[in-house]
Amino acid sequence: MLATYACDPARSRGRRFAQPPAPTRTDYQRDRDRIVHSTAFRRLVYKTQVFLNHEGDLFRTRLTHSLEVAQLGRSIARSLALNEDLVETIALAHDLGHTPFGHAGQDALNNCMAVYGGFEHNLQSLRVVDHLEERYPAFDGLNLTFETREGILKHCSTSNARQLEAIEPGGVALRFLQHTQPSMEAQLCNLADEIAYNAHDIDDGVRSGLITLAQLQDVALFDEYKCQTLADHPQLHDAAHGRRLLYESIRRMLSSQVYDVIAATQAALDQARPADVDAVRQLPPLVQFGAAMCDKSRELKAFLLKHLYRHPQVMQKTGQARLVVHDLFVAYLSDPQEMPPSHQRRVLAELQGSADAESAGLGTARVVADYIAGMTDRFAAREHQRLTGLQLLSGVNA
Ligand code: MG
Repeated sequence: MLATYACDPARSRGRRFAQPPAPTRTDYQRDRDRIVHSTAFRRLVYKTQVFLNHEGDLFRTRLTHSLEVAQLGRSIARSLALNEDLVETIALAHDLGHTPFGHAGQDALNNCMAVYGGFEHNLQSLRVVDHLEERYPAFDGLNLTFETREGILKHCSTSNARQLEAIEPGGVALRFLQHTQPSMEAQLCNLADEIAYNAHDIDDGVRSGLITLAQLQDVALFDEYKCQTLADHPQLHDAAHGRRLLYESIRRMLSSQVYDVIAATQAALDQARPADVDAVRQLPPLVQFGAAMCDKSRELKAFLLKHLYRHPQVMQKTGQARLVVHDLFVAYLSDPQEMPPSHQRRVLAELQGSADAESAGLGTARVVADYIAGMTDRFAAREHQRLTGLQLLSGVNA
């Protein structure tokens, strides 16, 4: 039961390389299956979300984060009669281009690549599914549908959008030049991503001891549901039940955000009445929080930035992670033979196919960035130790 404004696989804008339809699956289900079986997807389990991968088995990784985004996204999609399969597909793919070591790794690689066109993780996710996965005899990448690729390319700088548009006219980058929106399924994944990390970073933050329930009293969105939980279950005042109090408060907070998105988005739909997906793309964003929830979510994000992401203990680790990525980049760029044969071949092809030394240098740097971006936390740490003899991030090697 799809709404008229939902993405319908029967009206997909298709794949870059034509393929016959699958007998039992829609094109979006097929995209999802290709993502789940990809190499980049399996590596998400060993990539940091906020905490480095070795710091504890109970913290989120990019894989469990992606599964939570898919769950929240599907749940909201069903209520709004959006395409659940497409939402799940985009959610599972949305972090495929992330470097090791979370945002620290991404910032470091972007700095290294500054003179070579920069590094954006959303664009890298698209590179993974369009070019870097090597699984089919006839083409590079996973050959996903336009709608999945549109959702994966969440942000894109104008200069990168121009380059993409030159290669694929009227493709997934055009909206960044025309300042239009993607499908509602893609919009929903963005918001589900935010809801997921707001909740699980509180959970991981409290369980790691870096933030406390007492500190969270300053965060209206959390405190409201903690007070409500305590009123309903007074026995949870006992500190021995701290974990149940945390989980129940987060559960209520998550539900309230999901219901808020459904109500606010439904109200926006009632007003705009888009006839189809193309009408959705021309409108302002439709998937949204109500104004009050928007403020509360912003307050929570600011709290997490100040008290968790910039906690001295987290900063110390991320400083080392930046150094690892920087050292790897320098080492591979100066000696591409330190990379595996498949990447050496790509460097060779860049050198042979380039008109001048400058474009050969650009191409080589991009191969190095692709290689580093694909690494898991522990592989990057091991490679760093092999190349420099230094043991930063001890424990990640284990
Ligand atoms: Mg995410």
